Amino acid sequence: MDHSALQSRLERYQRLLTVSQILNSTLNLKELLEQIVHAAKDLTYTEATSILLVDPQTGDLFFEAASGSQSDAVKRESVPPDSVAGWVVRHGQAQIITDVSQDHRFSKKTDENTGFHTRSLLTVPMKVKDRVIGVVEAVNRIGDTPFNEEDVEVLTILSAEAAIAIENARLFQQSDLISEMVHELRTPLTSIVAYSELLLRHGLPAEQINSFIETIHQEANRLSKMTNDFLDLSRLQSGRTPLALSSVDIAELARDVIGLLTPQAAERGVRIDSQFSARPITISGDRERLRQVLVNLTGNAIKYNRPDGSIEIKIEPQADRIKIEVSDTGKGIPEKDLPHIFEKFFRVPDSEGYAQGTGLGLSIVKQIIEAHNSEIEVRSTPDVGTSFSFTLKAAG
Ligand code: ADP
Repeated sequence: MDHSALQSRLERYQRLLTVSQILNSTLNLKELLEQIVHAAKDLTYTEATSILLVDPQTGDLFFEAASGSQSDAVKRESVPPDSVAGWVVRHGQAQIITDVSQDHRFSKKTDENTGFHTRSLLTVPMKVKDRVIGVVEAVNRIGDTPFNEEDVEVLTILSAEAAIAIENARLFQQSDLISEMVHELRTPLTSIVAYSELLLRHGLPAEQINSFIETIHQEANRLSKMTNDFLDLSRLQSGRTPLALSSVDIAELARDVIGLLTPQAAERGVRIDSQFSARPITISGDRERLRQVLVNLTGNAIKYNRPDGSIEIKIEPQADRIKIEVSDTGKGIPEKDLPHIFEKFFRVPDSEGYAQGTGLGLSIVKQIIEAHNSEIEVRSTPDVGTSFSFTLKAAG
C-alpha cells in the first residue's frame, strides 16, 4: 500500500473512532439513526445512505432512516425479502453491487418512489451477537473507484457499533416507559384497594356503598384505558407497527368522527360545527390512525369545553398539503403548561375537575402525526379556547 492510500485509510479509521463516541452518547433512537446514516455517508464516499431495520414482531424489513432529501420519501417503506437488503439479512453477509442493473435482486420500487437513481450499492448487515437486526446501505459511490473490501470493512465496523447502540436505545426506551407506566398505575390501583377494603367493613350505609362502588368502577375503567393507551403508545414509539398508508378522504373521516362523538358532545351541551366542503378531500395517510387523532382531539375539545360551548373542525387545502384544525371554546391551557401537554401522563392540574383522563391521548396524537412526517401544533388562550392543527400530504 502506498503512502497516500495508507494515510487515507488511517484517516477513515480515525473518523470511525470519533463516530463510535458519538453513537455511544445518545439513547434517543431517532437521533441515533440520523447520526448513523450521516456517518455511513461520510465514511463510504457515497451519494446517499440508509438504514433498514427488521421488525422484531413480523420479521419484515423497513426503511427507518435515510440521509438527505430522500429521508421522508423512504421512511417506513417496506422492502421485500428477495431484495438485496433481504438477502443480506438472511445471509448475514455484506454485498457489493457495482452495477445494480445487472443484479436481479435489485428492486426499482424505492427509486421510483424517491426519484433517486441507484447505480451501485454496498449493503452490510447490522448484527447483535449473531442476530441480524437490520442493514446499512450505501448508495452510489462518488468518483471513479468502485466499492472495495476496505469499504466493506469500514462499514461493517460502523454497523456493529450502530447495532449495539440501536439495541441499547430500544432497551432504554422500553425500561423508561415501563417504569413510568408502573408509577402511573399506582394511583388508580391504590384507590381501588382502599375503597374495596372500606366496602368489606360491615354496617356501611347503602348510599356510601354505592358511592364506593362507583369510584372503584371509575378507577378500574381508567386503569383499563391506561393499559390500552399505553400499549398503543409503546407500539407507536418503537415503530413496530408501521403506518398502513392509503388515499384517505379526510372529509369523510371527519364526518364519521363527528357522527360518533355528537351524542357525547350533546350530553355536555356542546355543538360540533364542520367547516369543509362536501366534496372528497383526499390525503395520503393511515385511516385508522388518523381516525384516532380526530377522535382524541375532538374528544378533548368536548371534555374540556364549557356548557353551551362549541367545536369547529376545519379542513383546508393548502398547495400540496391539507390543513386540519380542531378548535374549541373551552377552558384553554395555561401558557406554562403548554410545553408539556404532549408528554406522556401529563395533565393540566385542574383537568380532573372537568373530566377523567389518562394524559396519554395527546402523546398518541403526536406520535401518529410525526409518523406521517408532520407536526402537531397548538394555540390556546385560558378561558377562551384551544386549537390543535396539523397538515397532511394531499394524495397525488
Ligand atoms: P387526558 O385528556 O386523558 O388527560 P391528553 O393527553 O389527551 O390526556 O391531554 C393532556 C392534557 O392536556 C389534558 O389533561 C388537559 O389538561 C389538556 N388538554 C388537552 N386538550 C385540551 C383542550 N382541548 N382544552 C383544554 N385542555 C386540554
